[in-house]
Amino acid sequence: MNLYTASPQTSSQAIAPAPAKPEVSVVVPIYNEVDSIPHLVETIATTLRKSRLNYEIICVDDGSRDGSAELLKQMAEVRQDLCVVLLRRNYGQTPAMAAGFHRARGQTIVTLDGDLQNDPVDIPNLLAALSEGYDLVSGWRKHRKDATLTRTLPSKIANWLIGQITGVKLHDYGCSLKAYRAELVADMNLYGELHRFLPALAYIEGARITEIPVNHHARRFGKSKYGLGRTFRVLMDLLTIYFFKTFLTRPMHVFGLLGILALLSGSATGLYLAALKLIWGQDIGNRPLLVLAVVLFLAGVQLFCFGLLAELQMRTYHESQNRPIYRVRETIGPGGVRVGQAD
Ligand code: UDP
Ligand code: MG
Repeated sequence: MNLYTASPQTSSQAIAPAPAKPEVSVVVPIYNEVDSIPHLVETIATTLRKSRLNYEIICVDDGSRDGSAELLKQMAEVRQDLCVVLLRRNYGQTPAMAAGFHRARGQTIVTLDGDLQNDPVDIPNLLAALSEGYDLVSGWRKHRKDATLTRTLPSKIANWLIGQITGVKLHDYGCSLKAYRAELVADMNLYGELHRFLPALAYIEGARITEIPVNHHARRFGKSKYGLGRTFRVLMDLLTIYFFKTFLTRPMHVFGLLGILALLSGSATGLYLAALKLIWGQDIGNRPLLVLAVVLFLAGVQLFCFGLLAELQMRTYHESQNRPIYRVRETIGPGGVRVGQAD
């Protein structure tokens, strides 16, 4: 049984009541991490209190089956700096983080893993970097403590590929320890397993991004929730991100261009075959070129229609959510409100 008893310095008297609007919200997704939770919450709290920050810790239990939820509930009864969100079932790390983001009230949001692999002691360094004018500060596990062949190597390749495709040059996308300005997080919608691409999504939203080296520890309790299978999912997500970055507001430029090319080459081949038949009276019924001409023509029409539908869909995507196609960093002048200014 994991009955949580608050240590003397974490008793309800020692912890200041949760402020109306904390400066920092720390979001932690939790899936079967019962043994790590007490130490994790304690270290986050101690670190932030040392930095004299108003903070809240938001632990999102992602349908754990090892008693993590029960332990978190007990802890939340004692601690006023802890908010616990219990999801109905296991949704995955991205939805768990999204749930934490929705609940977070701080001007700054920090995320980290619930398995003690990230070190909460690094949080003040991230916050210091953020205050230099960045919108997102990402941790870089410079001395990573994971198996080389199955974890570190695929991650090195993935980081290089992601850098090439998204244009955000970071050493380590996979590190969960990150700090964000709250406005930035509010602008990003997360789906699938896109938590790995938060810097890329932030970059699409025009964020200023940097990274700083952080500690990394081997897993002490429990086991990793991912295997090599995630490599394929990362690649597929990368395609989505590439599309978002390049063509989201102009799909017709891709599909229209491909469609026209296919239509033109299909028509040219068809005309050539028609000339053979009509002028020179040759038999074209058994020529593979005829199949190619028909396929190209049909593919062209379809790509073109697909582009039109994508244009329609893109307008619905933006207009139904009042999602502008630009992001303002700051407006200065009469009537202007500085973004990020306390209200
Ligand atoms: N996690 C989660 N839901 C899941 C899988 C993972 O909330 O379905 C959490 C997990 O508890 C941990 C973080 O996401 O806090 C990262 O998971 P893990 O440590 O297994 O990933 P790794 O560090 O091995 O990449
Ligand atoms: Mg981990």
